[in-house]
Amino acid sequence: AKERGKNAFQLFNKEMSVRALEQMLLENSLRHALERQEFELFYQPQLSAADNRICGMEALVRWRHPTRGLTAPGLFISLAEQTGLIVPMGDWILREACRQGKAWLDRGYRFGRIAVNLSPCQFLSDDLPAAIDAALAQSGLPPSMLELEITESAIMQNQQAATALLKRMRELGVTISVDDFGTGYSSLASLKQYPLDTLKIDRSFVKDIPYDADNVAITEAIIAIAHKLRLRVVAEGVESEEQNAFLRSAGCDVIQGYLHGRPLPPAEIESRWFAEGEK
Ligand code: C2E
Ligand code: CA
Ligand code: CA
Ligand code: CA
Repeated sequence: AKERGKNAFQLFNKEMSVRALEQMLLENSLRHALERQEFELFYQPQLSAADNRICGMEALVRWRHPTRGLTAPGLFISLAEQTGLIVPMGDWILREACRQGKAWLDRGYRFGRIAVNLSPCQFLSDDLPAAIDAALAQSGLPPSMLELEITESAIMQNQQAATALLKRMRELGVTISVDDFGTGYSSLASLKQYPLDTLKIDRSFVKDIPYDADNVAITEAIIAIAHKLRLRVVAEGVESEEQNAFLRSAGCDVIQGYLHGRPLPPAEIESRWFAEGEK
């Protein structure tokens, strides 16, 4: 029994060290990815439920690694957060999204706003208002065309700091969207203390509507309270016509999801969404 115990221990150790090594390599290449310009932004359109016109473009980061290929953020955002890399990376994302938005604007393309995701630690860093201000000034993008998406849980983590920070951001002229709404255990009533513009209903609620009665009830309740508080409602992860029809009849303002379009690189967004006649 002692031998088996020892082998199990060695096996465990070996697995751990392989994982630790992989983690280290990943962290190391992530560190260099910014300098090597391996990050790219894809964009996914947000369509107004009323007339199916584009009213927003959400920037979603991708990592094009020379050997690993295209990597989705699920695999590296949390590592970037743990290592603090998210701050310079988030800064690049903000600047690049504003630059792209201004370039599209100058070419006469209409897309409403550019929506940029902020990670929780980026949101709570003291430099954020300055970083937003710099990105806007550098690019020349009008502040009203930038929407910042912050998760509900990041806002709820530190309510006092969040209120002050959101106010400062609002003063810069940008709009604020609460991402993954419904997953962060905030009371709907506590929403009114924050200066907000938009609620994004989390995909987990949108998933089974109109068939899941609980999710239908939650979605309807979110839309009702959001409108009472004069907030815009975006549904994310809309994949089917049935979801789309339900959300529209329930009064949801904006629809985003694979049904209308997947996240695409800028050149493909242009040919798919900004082609002649769509302008
Ligand atoms: P999120 O902000 O909730 O973004 C929505 C995610 O759902 C995106 O995944 C998008 O590609 C995906 N999606 C959109 N429509 C549909 C649909 O109809 N069905 C399904 N199944 N999925 C859909 P993605 O791009 O892999 O991003 C995952 C998460 O990574 C994001 O969730 C966000 O939390 C984070 N993220 C992405 N880009 C950035 C960024 O630039 N900065 C930061 N801080 N986080 C980012
Ligand atoms: Ca988002
Ligand atoms: Ca979301
Ligand atoms: Ca989400």
